[in-house]
Amino acid sequence: MKACIFYEAGNVKVEEIPTPDVLDGQVLVKTQAASICYSDIRVFRGLKSASSGVAIGHEAAGVVAAVGKNVSSVTPGQLVSVCPIIPCGGCYFCLRGLQNRCEHRQTLGYQQNGALAEYILAPEGLVSMGHLLPLDNSIDPAIAAMVEPFACALYSLETCKLKPGGTVTIIGCGPMGLIHLLIAKQMGASKIIMSDPVEERLQIARDLGATVAINPNEIGLKEVVGELTRGIGSDLSIVSVGDVSAVEDGIRVTRKQGYINIFGGLPPGSELTVDPNQIHYDELFLTGTQNAPTEHYSRAAALLQVLPETEKLITSRVPLVNAPDIFTQRIALQGLKTIVEFPEI
Ligand SMILES: [Zn+2]
Ligand SMILES: [Zn+2]
Repeated sequence: MKACIFYEAGNVKVEEIPTPDVLDGQVLVKTQAASICYSDIRVFRGLKSASSGVAIGHEAAGVVAAVGKNVSSVTPGQLVSVCPIIPCGGCYFCLRGLQNRCEHRQTLGYQQNGALAEYILAPEGLVSMGHLLPLDNSIDPAIAAMVEPFACALYSLETCKLKPGGTVTIIGCGPMGLIHLLIAKQMGASKIIMSDPVEERLQIARDLGATVAINPNEIGLKEVVGELTRGIGSDLSIVSVGDVSAVEDGIRVTRKQGYINIFGGLPPGSELTVDPNQIHYDELFLTGTQNAPTEHYSRAAALLQVLPETEKLITSRVPLVNAPDIFTQRIALQGLKTIVEFPEI
């Protein structure tokens, strides 16, 4: 089979590798669509580690091609979306339903072959944890491939306790910021304030229903949030860019007892200066979220099916052979979600 292999920062290649055999407890998925996430770009840029020689990518959907012995959760021919986390199932965190925090976690696309391959081997630990999510076969696999980012954003907004009627500031209008927007709208947010320096992305945010989408280099974010919240600040702020100044902006625009979520990873060695008195006297919740527990994946898979606007996040569809170009395009901020599509073999 063909796969896009990560070797080192700046070096990914589409190559022929052996199609895996299916052992007991495992499932072989024939990939139909894979989407590229900014985490993959961070690996490509050398800002996040992954094993050299793995098929990169962790967002995928496909059809079950074969199941090993003792697998009853999925059947051949079924469309599934893949949660890339392989939890141990037995550690402190797994036993509490926090598989994303597993102490022995491995992840497809990082330590084991992932999404950018014609077939994905789902290991036993992934299958037994319910990390292959069956979906209606009528769903576009490109949409099904986005269960992972939707699960991450859903977990992010719920961690920040978004309530119907609540106000949200989202810093960064890349795909993850926009997915937060779609879900926040669905959850009943009354005002969603978005910020990004790229005009094209602001326009998409407006089209998708942002209350206001501003360029922070032209208008002060704090002033805009203040105006829309009668000077109180937003209930929560999602920082969906890997930038310390964006985290500082998030803290500045959030109301007392509000939540600030550092959703995007930052370059290693980044430092944030915070006045602890502001956290103390304003009773702020400064947090982070990374990926999502299994439970959020199941609900994200259902949620995607009632959010037809998700389609607007897909700005191009390319074959696997073009996958290496996606990395440089995303670094240049061209387009939003690029889907790699796989023809039937
Ligand atoms: Zn992702
Ligand atoms: Zn574990």
